[in-house]
Amino acid sequence: MSVTEHISEHAAADQDADISRHREELLEACRRNLRHVDAAMIGKAFDFCVQAHGKDLRASGEAYYTHPIQVAKIVATELPLDDVSVAAALLHDVVEDTEFSQNDIHQEFGEEVANIVDGATKITDVFKSHEITKAASYRKLLISLINDVRVILVKFADRLHNMRTLQYLKPEKQKRLARETLTIYAPLAHRFGLGSIKWELEDLAFKYTNRPAYDEIKNSLNIKRQEREKYIRSFSEPIEAQLREAGFKFEVGGRAKHIFSIYNKLVNRGKTIEEIYDLFAVRIILDTPKPNDCFTVYGIVSDIYTPVPERFKNYISVPKKNGYQSLHTTVIGPQGRKVEVQIRTRAMHEVAEKGVAAHFRYKEISGNSYIEDAELEEWVHWVRDVFDSAGDEAPEQVVESFKLNLYQNEIYLFTPKGELRILPQQATPVDFAYAIHTKVGHHCIGAKVNQKIVPLDYELHSGDQVEIITSKNQRPNKDWEKFAITHKAKSNIRKFFKEERRTQIADARELWARRMRKLKVHINDDELEKIVRQIRYMNKAEFFFALGTGKLTLEAAEAAVMERWNKAGGARRPEAQQDDAAQQDAITFDKFKHTARTEADGVYIVGSDAPLKYSYARCCNPVPGDDITGVVTVGGGVKIHRTTCKNIASMQESLKPRLVDVRWSSRQAKSFMAAIKVTGEDRPAMLNDLTSAILSCDHTNIRSVNIDSYDSLFEGVITVHVMDVNRVEEIFEVLRTVKGVKTVSRFEG
Ligand code: MN
Repeated sequence: MSVTEHISEHAAADQDADISRHREELLEACRRNLRHVDAAMIGKAFDFCVQAHGKDLRASGEAYYTHPIQVAKIVATELPLDDVSVAAALLHDVVEDTEFSQNDIHQEFGEEVANIVDGATKITDVFKSHEITKAASYRKLLISLINDVRVILVKFADRLHNMRTLQYLKPEKQKRLARETLTIYAPLAHRFGLGSIKWELEDLAFKYTNRPAYDEIKNSLNIKRQEREKYIRSFSEPIEAQLREAGFKFEVGGRAKHIFSIYNKLVNRGKTIEEIYDLFAVRIILDTPKPNDCFTVYGIVSDIYTPVPERFKNYISVPKKNGYQSLHTTVIGPQGRKVEVQIRTRAMHEVAEKGVAAHFRYKEISGNSYIEDAELEEWVHWVRDVFDSAGDEAPEQVVESFKLNLYQNEIYLFTPKGELRILPQQATPVDFAYAIHTKVGHHCIGAKVNQKIVPLDYELHSGDQVEIITSKNQRPNKDWEKFAITHKAKSNIRKFFKEERRTQIADARELWARRMRKLKVHINDDELEKIVRQIRYMNKAEFFFALGTGKLTLEAAEAAVMERWNKAGGARRPEAQQDDAAQQDAITFDKFKHTARTEADGVYIVGSDAPLKYSYARCCNPVPGDDITGVVTVGGGVKIHRTTCKNIASMQESLKPRLVDVRWSSRQAKSFMAAIKVTGEDRPAMLNDLTSAILSCDHTNIRSVNIDSYDSLFEGVITVHVMDVNRVEEIFEVLRTVKGVKTVSRFEG
């Protein structure tokens, strides 16, 4: 035996020992962290992995299989989920990198494992192909998530191990993987509530994207470390003593500072490095099933150190969207230094660090769940967007139920540059356009979805890449409001039209004023209001709007207005001003009915000269000429009803003695108000036609008009000033001639 042979044999023996040690460690980690361990399956996957990768090496020079083994360990210890995902982690690179196929995995390990491996392989494929745009990568990544949440968890573990061993790769590849980690994996890890993985991924990625900043922050952290640790110890000691006395089991620790988050605070919040270092942070983790114990501990901490009141945050009663729960408080520690204290239970801590995985575990051991069911419900509120609800299913079925459904209420869309936009389901290109920018929304004329032209009301789907086509000449369309579904789009469209209308009216007003000056005619606002009503506009604003939008030409407007103006003598009539003033204050029907009646002075009781305290009934609204009946009220006054009023007819026999015979006196008020109910088929301009019909009657003014339409029908209540009941009859006649009107009657409220 030559020396080299001897050495390599020796090495091989070492290697074998290494492998079996790894195998045992992995199984041990599974037994420690997982509820159910199929040791045979994991062992088989382990052996398969070692054999399949054979003599392949990593960039570090290590055997390739050490990578999947480490990934499996991460899954078993840092994201403890289940044995299936550990097996899948062991096999995740087999299809990609060895001669074995997806079929082989399926045959050897069954569908569940094979599906996860397949998903993980696909994601890897996406990033391997350099021609693929970033947008497409995102899309495929997200779509691949639909199948099984464990795909993404295995992928997180894979990425974490690759980032931990990134130093062996070429700088160019380091940078690419680091950027990918920052833009895709870290945000996703956050969304899944995987706090510790998110931080680690970010710090590792930051190290390779901005080494100088990373080193600087890390160095200054190291310099101050001892001092900080000493301070935290002295701060914690009295708290720990009291907690022990109170019988709590707990863990108190300073929190690791994440370099990337410090960097972000420096850059985004303009803080100095000293300001950030000066805030100390301590975390208390309680081994208790009772969330309320956190409040007790908060009380203990506040007794020892004075809290800063506005810094108290209760994320226990109101968890963050990703399920994070904790009490946060800031207290004044020794030497007047501010210390942030986080208090949480072990279960809350697990959720904070491990997110989905922790949820999964507690759900799985639901018998001894640390988390109350109601809280769990709250916590999974957002997860429900992602997963089908596991409900009360048996633990075995929970895995099955953990299908990822990212798209239940939200859809994930991408700009051509690969930026992610999250919109509600059924969103359209218009919603997308407004999500990008109001201007993009206002000018969008169409969209390309996955390179194909689609109409603006097209329903977008998760994973769509959306490119909005704009044109300078485009402007919002009223129809957009019908299919836009986001608040942002809808309100911007409405705002646009309101604003546009305002300018159109203002421009038309200006145009009109110039014209009138030229003609040397002065028609004041009240007079103009009256005239525009006669020419079928509801008010001046409508008139100017028609003028502004070109529906009415300046010539036609001038001709129509001047004709009426000249007919009215071209001068202002004193009574016109009065009527207009009455019309101008927009007062509700009820309010008016009441005041109009009490002002009237025209009713007496037959056979009595005594002054009468009376008022008109709101239900039937009598006007002079109507047959009327008085009802003596409890207060001693008299309510005047029309004799035909339903309320009089339905009056109980016992109340009949209260009725008194009343008549209209000749001393009548000069005008009364009557309410007319009109129904019929709704059509454009119906309102204008009704009002102009009424205005064609002499001595009649409209007080208010209220029209409701449902389907193709309308029901309107028009209140008018009239002199007496004969006028009302006259108005009835005119209204009945309006096209589409079906019924006309006195309104009884
Ligand atoms: Mn891998």
